[in-house]
Amino acid sequence: MIYVHVPFCRSFCTYCDFYSEVASAGAGRFDSYVKALDAEIFARAGEITSDCNTLYVGGGTPSVLPPSFFSGLVATLKKAGVNTTFDEFTVEVNPEDIVEKGQGYVEALLEAGVNRISMGIQSLDDSILKWMNRPHTSREAVEACYILRRAGVKNLSVDLIFGISHLGMDVWKDTIERVLELGVEHISCYQLSIEPGSMLCTLVGKGRYKEADEELCREQYELLCSMLSAEGFRHYEISNFAKEGYCSRHNSAYWKYVPYTGLGPGAHSFSFDGKTASRSWNKADLKAYIAAFSGEGKENIVSREVLTSEQMRMERIMLGLRTAEGVQRYLLPEGDLPLVDLGNGYWRIPESDFFISDSIISSLI
Ligand code: SF4
Repeated sequence: MIYVHVPFCRSFCTYCDFYSEVASAGAGRFDSYVKALDAEIFARAGEITSDCNTLYVGGGTPSVLPPSFFSGLVATLKKAGVNTTFDEFTVEVNPEDIVEKGQGYVEALLEAGVNRISMGIQSLDDSILKWMNRPHTSREAVEACYILRRAGVKNLSVDLIFGISHLGMDVWKDTIERVLELGVEHISCYQLSIEPGSMLCTLVGKGRYKEADEELCREQYELLCSMLSAEGFRHYEISNFAKEGYCSRHNSAYWKYVPYTGLGPGAHSFSFDGKTASRSWNKADLKAYIAAFSGEGKENIVSREVLTSEQMRMERIMLGLRTAEGVQRYLLPEGDLPLVDLGNGYWRIPESDFFISDSIISSLI
């Protein structure tokens, strides 16, 4: 299971704290990034496990890169001895890249082996998109979906955001309806959160944004859940909904504590041999990453943490209870639990309580 982090974006979205650099400023660094990534692949190929054989290229905005990046990535992995017959190969894209680069670009991604696309739409309302500083309009988002379909994409996921204080219920309902009309197989939907270091955090500090109240967030989440369930989506994780057979294998494996190898600046990895678990992460700094993997790096860019058995138990509860599959009973405390017994040794948070899952989970760990 492999995650590759692409640290470039065209511009920065208001709410985002992911590690990336503005693509135009980093243009000269694309090649150095690719060289460093190739070197990291060769150095770490032995760590890559294929129990869950998925490749996920995220970011940042991977679609700022040319198709040769994706075919080259697979070729390098193969050369390094990695099993590249991926069950799922996802690439995150942004609508403006798909519209600008067109059908041929998407066909080239499929040619490289990509079989799932995850597109950041976030909203289909132009004033909300503008406020988010997204570099695309709602019309472009819709057009991008058509382009992806015409090119032959059969497994399409889109991302949405709710819980914005000036997002009215009517606008939110309209966005959900229009996304459903697009006939996508998978929807990831996150409540807006104010992340330290984001532009939004600065706006809050200056009094230019006030967090949405809990009731509005709950109403928007519940509307989403009911509209998606009526269209046959399975609510398989707090923020993820899929048509039958389209749950993300890669993301589901994270929640099941499957080991993964994260490549690229800022990428996290997890190793677990059934007894000992550890997490490691590369420094979120492109320059240091390039230096480290071009052989010039004096600096150690990898941090590592070995988990205690108690940390492992807590993590498994936190991850498992995000999902409809739940968590094994033996990991949970004794006594009455605010959970549902699924009858197979697993207990879950009922869907009606997913919205308050954070407080339920903290009461259990
Ligand atoms: S939300 Fe996506 S496109 Fe926007 S800044 Fe973050 S990583 Fe880049």
